[in-house]
Amino acid sequence: MPVPDLPNGPGGTSPAQVSGPNLPPPAGARPRVVVVGAGFGGLAAARALRSADAQVVVVDRQNHHLFQPLLYQVATAALAAPDIASPIRSILRRQANAVVLLAEVRSVDPHRRVLELDEGSIAYDHLVIAAGARHSYFGHDAWEARAPGLKTLEDALEIRSRVLLAFEEAERSPHPAIRAALLTFVVVGGGPTGVELAGALAEISRYTLARDFRFIDPAESRVHLVEAGPRILPSFDDDLAARSVVYLQDLGVTVHTGTAVTGVDAGGVDLGERRIEARTVLWAAGVVASPLGRGLGVPLDRAGRVIVRPDLTVPGHPEVSVVGDLAHFAGEDGRPLPGVAPVATQQGRHAARNVLLALAGQPREPFRYVDRGSMATVGRARAVAEIGGLRLAGYVAWLAWALLHIALLAGFRNRVLVMIEWIWAYVTFQRGARLITEAFRPSPAALPQDSPAPLPPGPPSLPPAPPPSPG
Ligand SMILES: Cc1cc2nc3c(=O)[nH]c(=O)nc-3n(C[C@H](O)[C@H](O)[C@H](O)COP(=O)(O)OP(=O)(O)OC[C@H]3O[C@@H](n4cnc5c(N)ncnc54)[C@H](O)[C@@H]3O)c2cc1C
Repeated sequence: MPVPDLPNGPGGTSPAQVSGPNLPPPAGARPRVVVVGAGFGGLAAARALRSADAQVVVVDRQNHHLFQPLLYQVATAALAAPDIASPIRSILRRQANAVVLLAEVRSVDPHRRVLELDEGSIAYDHLVIAAGARHSYFGHDAWEARAPGLKTLEDALEIRSRVLLAFEEAERSPHPAIRAALLTFVVVGGGPTGVELAGALAEISRYTLARDFRFIDPAESRVHLVEAGPRILPSFDDDLAARSVVYLQDLGVTVHTGTAVTGVDAGGVDLGERRIEARTVLWAAGVVASPLGRGLGVPLDRAGRVIVRPDLTVPGHPEVSVVGDLAHFAGEDGRPLPGVAPVATQQGRHAARNVLLALAGQPREPFRYVDRGSMATVGRARAVAEIGGLRLAGYVAWLAWALLHIALLAGFRNRVLVMIEWIWAYVTFQRGARLITEAFRPSPAALPQDSPAPLPPGPPSLPPAPPPSPG
């Protein structure tokens, strides 16, 4: 379907003929600010522009804002997908100057000030790019099919199905070796996401599923956390990282540090000379920035992040800011700020503030990150946290983690639902979202063909039913 031309170029500086989705032009001579991505950075920017005398267009290829820090809870069946996502439209519905566009941005032309979308294009006066990052397999892209990463809701649902199906297949399998491989889980990457995933998998086996199966004992399952660096949670204090190892070991997780993964296939992972037979391998190591940064024609770092100027704009284009996981911004110690939600949120707000200053004809200001600390949870009532100068571990840290995450979730409904789910899980040890849905159930054709020990055909050898009890 042909798309109509967007009648007026923004601010009179952009080309008049720009084809685009059926967006009404900004009223009068109002400029257009386009925000790419409604994650932490983009949403913060859009909200901070609510008073702008401008049309604020938020473009995202998803219709929802996703609270990624709780994705692992969807992947491990503690929460349902809608609990941690909110429609972008409903978040911004009260912001009169905001327009939400469901579209994929294919490229940016900073010279013409135009974004190419999957359908049409859109011109801008000011642009904030907050398109985030994806996991990186360090040049081994073939591993992705065997070891999915966790970034989107689809990833989380895929992982949830793989984990639950592994237990189901183990229940049906008469072969001890195959059963053992099905009940072995490997998580690659010892950052907060890997630690949280490994802890949650161990808890599922030990508590949630412990009494649900008849022919396997889920508590016999093995969880391995593999980290190439010398220790897990590298961004945390040494003592807290050591404490989290103890928490993981208490849950039965085997922690391998200084161990690089050298191969992943349908039967397991290679760790140099060693091998772990495991049917479920999850990837929580390394990220690569959104490809949108490449089109800007400005310097990038090795992870594809745009090296931004002190005011978060890109060299040669003060009307373009890049924030969040896609931005490389050197902190006070000269190292790039980490890819975490508070960095993205503060940068999004700051980029918006600079747009307001520019619209008022004033100079932009440099960004300064205020680090309020970091947290990681290992499981029920076990977490580590650094808040200001305070170092917390155990129940207090876990409570702080839970309260903070509830407070930060977008939407009152989600906050209430998550709180109820957590209280229920705390009391009962149960996880409410243990569904394997058809969409995420691999068809036989999609199952790995290079499996070293395929499941035998035919029914499982179930033990005979016990004789009926007398009377
Ligand atoms: C599993 C996991 C756990 C995490 N846990 C924590 C934690 O505990 N604490 C913490 O602080 N941080 C955590 N993080 C990191 C944190 O989520 C990120 O740093 C943060 O989301 C970055 O925000 P962003 O706005 O840069 O990108 P994102 O939040 O990733 O948002 C990017 C948005 O851009 C959209 N988009 C991307 N490309 C395009 C395109 N071409 N066209 C249109 N739209 C596009 C995406 O759909 C998405 O909505 C975690 C991340 C993950 C994946």
